[in-house]
Amino acid sequence: MSDNTTHRPLDWIDRELDRLAQQDLLRHRTTRTSPQAAQLQLESWQGVSFGSNDYLGLAADMRLADAVAGATKMDGWGSGASPLVTGYAQIHQRLEEQLAQFEGTESTLLFSSGFAANAGCVSALVGPGDVVFGDRKNHASLFDGCRLSRADVRVYPHGDWRRLDRLAAKSKGCRRRLIVTDSLFSMDGDLAPLVQLADVAERHEAILMVDEAHATGVFGPSGRGVAEHVGVEHRVHVRVGTLSKAIGSIGGFVAGSRSLVEWLVNRARPYVFSTALPGACCAAAMAALDVIRNEPHRRVQLLDRAERLRASLRQQGWQIGTSESQIIPIVLGDAGRAVRLSERLRDEGFYVPAIRPPTVPKREACLRVSLTWAHGEEMIEGLLGALARLRTEFP
Ligand SMILES: *Cc1c(COP(=O)(O)O)cnc(C)c1O
Repeated sequence: MSDNTTHRPLDWIDRELDRLAQQDLLRHRTTRTSPQAAQLQLESWQGVSFGSNDYLGLAADMRLADAVAGATKMDGWGSGASPLVTGYAQIHQRLEEQLAQFEGTESTLLFSSGFAANAGCVSALVGPGDVVFGDRKNHASLFDGCRLSRADVRVYPHGDWRRLDRLAAKSKGCRRRLIVTDSLFSMDGDLAPLVQLADVAERHEAILMVDEAHATGVFGPSGRGVAEHVGVEHRVHVRVGTLSKAIGSIGGFVAGSRSLVEWLVNRARPYVFSTALPGACCAAAMAALDVIRNEPHRRVQLLDRAERLRASLRQQGWQIGTSESQIIPIVLGDAGRAVRLSERLRDEGFYVPAIRPPTVPKREACLRVSLTWAHGEEMIEGLLGALARLRTEFP
């Protein structure tokens, strides 16, 4: 045995953690002790939670749980291999077909998460000698995909399609151009200018890839997302969705042409080199798709209530930025202020997580109110009442 008392190569971690704590940037997990729902228990705390992406209230819906139990009884739990070996089962195929029908595309491909779908898809579409353009506020998984691709990465200011247009004009010499964007931004709750982005993509012969993670099941007449909402689906070449937010299960998917999917099956590394999802996750997603088809009032009511909540927050004098969705930031600026308001609300029975750098830019710390269909009027009124009482403490 060697002497291990002097060689401590991980000592820097404790110093870094201390530094984060001093800056109000250290994060902790709180253990949830109830199912994921609007009425939540976190360790010994109990109250109303505005801190999930379970937008349609399906994560703990018994129809999904029953579908999982049934599928597990039939086929067992584990999938045991990557989809290219023996991991791809009939139930994955059925979900991919149903998703293609739902999305109105030729084909879809399931990944083990939305993160894997984004990282795998971007890096399969572009490489060295290509250029990828991304909105500054894109999700981390899109940025990681850009880095993995080793293509030139050009970041444009949030929503600034004019700037993108000028950047793209300078990329004539590149082999391929890819524009990637969230459709509904996860922290600001605003929408990408998809019509203008589609124009830019056409003008510069670029591929347009849109990540609908927060919009699937919520936006659009049939719940397909923002591209459906603004009528540009046919101009979006690559659409990404997640099964883990409004759909209430786990997994991600890419929707597009048959050849796009075949390419990803061959070239998307997180697809090729990772075990397939347990089939039962697909059963849950199919049960959720049924709800999305048969209960459109859920998304209508959610967006309706979100609009009224935004108006009330503005009336109380809170800064809610550019939100136009069920994701509503209350911008505090300073990380410490955001943490304190979150704590005060928790004392009042409402969980609204503080979002700090590096998730948001410096000086943009906020509370992120995530509204779901399961939040009834009295819960929303309760939150507004608590915020009104706290307003003077947080000028
Ligand atoms: C959550 C999220 C993802 C990742 O999806 P998971 O299924 O949770 O891995 C991708 N893109 C955006 C914009 C997200 O908010």
